[in-house]
Amino acid sequence: MRRKLVAGNWKMHGLKAQLGDVVEIAAAAAAAPRVDVNLCLPFTLIEAAVAVAGAMPIGAQDVHEADKGAHTGCISGAMLRDCGASLTIVGHSERRADQHETSHDAWAKATAARRHGLQVILCCGETEAERDAGRAERIVQSQIEKSLPEGASGDWLTLAYEPRWAIGTGKTPTLDDIAAIHAIARAKLRHMVGDAADGIRILYGGSVTGANAETILATENVDGALVGGASLTVEKFGPIIAAAAEIARRG
Ligand code: PEP
Repeated sequence: MRRKLVAGNWKMHGLKAQLGDVVEIAAAAAAAPRVDVNLCLPFTLIEAAVAVAGAMPIGAQDVHEADKGAHTGCISGAMLRDCGASLTIVGHSERRADQHETSHDAWAKATAARRHGLQVILCCGETEAERDAGRAERIVQSQIEKSLPEGASGDWLTLAYEPRWAIGTGKTPTLDDIAAIHAIARAKLRHMVGDAADGIRILYGGSVTGANAETILATENVDGALVGGASLTVEKFGPIIAAAAEIARRG
């Protein structure tokens, strides 16, 4: 039985003035003990957030594949650990689009994160054109194949299926479409890592809100959600955490 995980991605939002939101979200997380909750924040907020987040893990949204060196503007896994981060997202579609990152980059970043003891949320997902062309399943399989790091297992790795066209748009796939991709992702993981696949959580991400969280989180093979816009305040994130807690309560 995989525990539900609700992960927040603040993207390029948040100043120290928003640390109160971290405190409130941490309190909502503490009130949902059967659910795992974390927040992936801008680098500049990580250390201060760790100091106020209690037991709720704080993570980053990216990590460099190298441990150190001449990489201006980049952040290493060691630096993230040094400021208290315990996880990082890699391969987010906004980085694939804006920084031209590839699945191979995601693999290298996930591998580096693991070297430094960071948990990893590895993202995959098709574009709208790829879905319209009937290629969503093949794209996701291929992204997993190219980005899944060696030794992938549920104690440090989570997969997030995030159709790019659903991120920040208010659009979501049908529950059947989510279930179909998650089943294919689970089968791909099983093909690649055998029984270890059973422990790897697969999150859905893309316009999850308090209004749609319960049905999405109850969908087969959906082990949680990666949430962007609705993770910035407890007013929006709290109901998503509560939906996951309700499903966990029902067993
Ligand atoms: C995300 O940033 O990973 C995401 C899913 O964003 P949103 O929830 O805003 O669609």
